[in-house]
Amino acid sequence: MNAAQFYPLFLKSSKVTIDSRKIQKNDIFFAFSGANFNAATLAQDAMTNGALAVIVEQQEFADADHHIFYVPSTLDFLQELAVYHRNQLQIPIIGLTGSNGKTTTKELIHAVLSKKFNVQYTLGNLNNHIGVPLTILSIKPEHEMAVIEMGANHQKEIEQLCAISQPNYGYITNFGKAHLEGFGGFEGVIKGKSELYDYLKSHRQTVLVNENDPIQLQKTSDYQPKITFGGTGSDYHFEEFSSQNFVGLRFNGESAQSKLTGNYNFTNLCAAASFGLHFGINFQDIKSAIENYVPTNMRSQIMERDGKTLVLDTYNANPSSMAASLRNFSSFDGTKTIIIGDMLELGAEAKEEHDDILQLAKSLNFDQIITVGKNFLSLNSPDSLNFENSAELAEFMKSNRLSSKNILLKGSRGIALEKVLEFI
Ligand code: ATP
Ligand code: MG
Repeated sequence: MNAAQFYPLFLKSSKVTIDSRKIQKNDIFFAFSGANFNAATLAQDAMTNGALAVIVEQQEFADADHHIFYVPSTLDFLQELAVYHRNQLQIPIIGLTGSNGKTTTKELIHAVLSKKFNVQYTLGNLNNHIGVPLTILSIKPEHEMAVIEMGANHQKEIEQLCAISQPNYGYITNFGKAHLEGFGGFEGVIKGKSELYDYLKSHRQTVLVNENDPIQLQKTSDYQPKITFGGTGSDYHFEEFSSQNFVGLRFNGESAQSKLTGNYNFTNLCAAASFGLHFGINFQDIKSAIENYVPTNMRSQIMERDGKTLVLDTYNANPSSMAASLRNFSSFDGTKTIIIGDMLELGAEAKEEHDDILQLAKSLNFDQIITVGKNFLSLNSPDSLNFENSAELAEFMKSNRLSSKNILLKGSRGIALEKVLEFI
């Protein structure tokens, strides 16, 4: 069975899912193989729950009369079906990648463009070789545009995700020190992320460029068509301001203040506003979209609690986002405690990068530095309180209340710093 043969059935479905717990009537279920996996039972359960079709990679479980179809690889077929669907769609797709800020930027672009269009977008962080095809397959006839987040931790991944999503517009949020292990150092990051530029260039699609970023500027110098912001001669010129720890942008004398902290979010706002202006949305509507967007996803989220200001940035961390976050937090008024967790996936550079961050933290004069994770712990720093994991810190905090007015929590997903929240 190929994608073209299956497509008519797909068009009748409600959604495609790979999660057997989420199957609802009329869904198509892709039964990915895994440990302890019983495709036969899952396929039967799916049909009982009203699935329209099930895709399995075990020939013996196939039963075409009952819409249980065999393919050699469910993953390959999911991707093929997504490409087939993409080829039928006549709508513009915006592709996003970068080391930091993809999800935030995606959500902001979605908020802005939704002022005028019906926009589909990556849900949560479904940005990999499975998430991207699932997002493409979630685009329905009523959608007029889509914003797709593409994540990568090694070379050729963005190339593959571009081949599936075929973006008409692309933006790289930044080049940072993330996933250094898989990419082979910072040069590797630049090369890997730039696969989006390579796709756009060879397909003559439009790139959005932050001209304030020397790498972007250099990489796209001979690209056409392009939309630009950030430079003196750019298409769109925004000014940054910040008020009560929240960052905002000004355009032609009008200002829009976000509910995001961190000046790194300024470029994320600029990208969203640039796409908005490009697609004919007036600044009043862009302002309203920006002002009403509230992050709820542990990314640059500010919470007020019992007179304390908490900055919750526990979704992830790498050296670039950690440094940006620390610098931003150092400008808060009042006493400050930072709780920083290990930055994972740094490979051979882990020790040096953790050391650099600790030095930076010390130079920023915080009132208290708390670290969590084996990398920080191994540095044996006498100037900070160091814990091996979040559970140990939580135990400590049960009997030691933090006294600072402002508290920053930032660390990699694997450290799960949000576990200590209830003890603040
Ligand atoms: P992931 O790789 O997990 O998908 P992401 O690229 O989608 O991450 P976000 O989840 O939007 O990134 O943001 C994660 C964190 O990165 C933020 O909380 C913030 O600390 C930092 N960050 C956001 N935008 C930028 C930016 N433009 N430059 C540097 N750091 C940023
Ligand atoms: Mg993300």
